[in-house]
Amino acid sequence: MKLLVLAYTNEECTIRIEDTNPAFVNSLRRIIIAEIETVAVELVEITVNDSPICDEMLAHRIGLIPLVSSNIHLVSPSECTCASGQCSQCTVTFEINYTNTELTPQSIYSKHLQPVSDFAHQYKPCFDDILITKINPNSSLKLKAYAQKGTGSDHTKFNATCAVEYHFEPVILLDETIDQQPLHIKQELVHSCPQSIFKLNEQTQCIDIEDTDKCNYCHSCERLCRKYKLPDDILQVKPDESIITIKIESIGSIPALQILHQALNKLMYKSQILLAQNQLNDLMIL
Ligand code: SF4
Ligand SMILES: [Zn+2]
Repeated sequence: MKLLVLAYTNEECTIRIEDTNPAFVNSLRRIIIAEIETVAVELVEITVNDSPICDEMLAHRIGLIPLVSSNIHLVSPSECTCASGQCSQCTVTFEINYTNTELTPQSIYSKHLQPVSDFAHQYKPCFDDILITKINPNSSLKLKAYAQKGTGSDHTKFNATCAVEYHFEPVILLDETIDQQPLHIKQELVHSCPQSIFKLNEQTQCIDIEDTDKCNYCHSCERLCRKYKLPDDILQVKPDESIITIKIESIGSIPALQILHQALNKLMYKSQILLAQNQLNDLMIL
């Protein structure tokens, strides 16, 4: 198996995996969505809420704010030895203590979530400008927010990604007899592709194929060939399931490539456990 990073930024990465299969890539996708650990607000204690948003909705909005989670030192609440389920080992605390002394309504953003416990600054909101609510003049918002570690399988707010998609390598087989077809059919074929994959060479009047990666399997080109009753094998578009491109979009809490790295490690660990269990079963049968 060969893995090539085609492009990456902190927010997204595109990886091409060769000599693979859909089962492997789908396992990777499921781990990325459900098993990567991030930190998010689990509990909100509201003491004063003069905003137009009710307490439950306010807590929900704060829970969905992505927090920096690239280097988590926290213990999972389920594994922590504390009785309260909220000690410094498993929880970091933020607060909003805001009174609007201006003459106009003011917006409360994610930047107003101030870290108050040890290490909480490591898990500050990924973006400063996520709107939480608005506050009228002479009104206040006072609350404490407790953030903990979790995974996408606990709640979708822990999901480190907003999208993970993969597609199979397109294989476009164009028989050379297409070039013997009337010019208007070739022109129509070129225009039928929404991704502009076919090009008509002005000098030779032959059809060239460019950048097959852009194919989205719409099959417009094959429909056009059927419309003119051309032979079935003159143009075929097929997916090659052994070459898969996967695209990961991060919500900002963990860099996209780091998400892939963590997912590959988890998949390897699970495979090793499965292998060891199989070997143990074989031994028991013997
Ligand atoms: S299947 Fe659609 S996108 Fe792909 S080559 Fe044919 S027309 Fe273009
Ligand atoms: Zn604890």
